[in-house]
Amino acid sequence: MKNEITRAVIYRKNIEYNLTNIKKNLSPDTKICVAVKADGYGTSALETARVCEDLGIDMLAIARVSEGIELRKGGIKLPLILLSLCSPEEFYDLFEYEITPFIFGNEHIKALDKAAEEFISKGGSFKNGKFNVHLAIDTGMGRVGCRKEEAAETVKLIENSKNLKLSGMGTHFALSDCVEARGLEYTEEQFLNFKEAVDSVRKAGIEPGICHAGASAIACSRPDIHFDMVRPGIIVYGYYADQVDKKYLESKGINLDLKPVMQFETRVSAIKRFKRGQSVSYGRTWVCEKETDIAVLPVGYADGLLRRFSPGLKIAINGKEYPVVGRICMDQCMVNIGKDNKDVKCWDKAVIFGPVNEDGALQDAETLAKLGNTISYEIMTCITKRVPRITV
Ligand SMILES: *Cc1c(COP(=O)(O)O)cnc(C)c1O
Repeated sequence: MKNEITRAVIYRKNIEYNLTNIKKNLSPDTKICVAVKADGYGTSALETARVCEDLGIDMLAIARVSEGIELRKGGIKLPLILLSLCSPEEFYDLFEYEITPFIFGNEHIKALDKAAEEFISKGGSFKNGKFNVHLAIDTGMGRVGCRKEEAAETVKLIENSKNLKLSGMGTHFALSDCVEARGLEYTEEQFLNFKEAVDSVRKAGIEPGICHAGASAIACSRPDIHFDMVRPGIIVYGYYADQVDKKYLESKGINLDLKPVMQFETRVSAIKRFKRGQSVSYGRTWVCEKETDIAVLPVGYADGLLRRFSPGLKIAINGKEYPVVGRICMDQCMVNIGKDNKDVKCWDKAVIFGPVNEDGALQDAETLAKLGNTISYEIMTCITKRVPRITV
């Protein structure tokens, strides 16, 4: 794998840089739960988790039980919170690998309590006698969570259960990365809903535990609504959350510098002369007009280089950008480097995206996302399994 020509280089020092800067901007008593779901947004969950442990991060967030198991098997000891729902068949793994579910719904809670009972009867045990859960509140995201009106009742069910204990409450914002009035207003509405839910639990005489609501956009721009903990993801990997970008933050007097963590690169595997009339790739969408040289790159959509990037995509080779011509194939694509280009040789590095000014990248995943009409999150998580992650 290490010699694979198409690779994703992961800059550990950039994870450290981003986390250090994120921490600097937070009040010292605000806890941090780093989202390492989807293999750390495609970078490498284990590597990010290790940096998090070194830097004293409080918790990690995952989206699949299998992601938690991988981290535990990799030696990660930090508390893990599972953000999405799992199947009842996976409850045993939650206990076994100490994964805290973000739960709601009477049926789920009862089933989890029953499974915990079975776990104990088979000789299993929980650290403090009971299994920790966080209650999810749907304050307007329309995804997981109970409504604020159901919060107190649900918490009572947890507290009255035999084996479960409430150790936190959380919600998720739908429009926190939008700084226009509609975004700010909706976030305010969700914030008030969550506050109401937490207050109702306290009023019922139950301690809500760690309260958390904000992801990256809130973590870097809204200290007033951090509650006890924030759950940043994308900023850890070096990209801003949409409109909550560097410029916007500066306008609020916040200085948060970030560096992209991942570089997606390959190498020129052949250079060929094309004459007028000769074409490149499926569909013959590109036909040579005047004699030129074409470089063949062994990277395609099965590596995560989206087919819709061509036409439009430019790839950097030795400090210059060259256009991809013709359709991107499953495993390869072709770039037009011009006739007798002295700057490009076979086996030279070709960089698709990465931290600009670092190791050959001329664009980052954010720029590429705009071309593909998507977001940096998708660009990174699209990089497939066959692309080795090489940490440097
Ligand atoms: C993915 C996710 C996060 C992190 O989101 P970013 O925008 O990447 O910071 C936080 N909380 C929940 C519930 C999530 O699903």
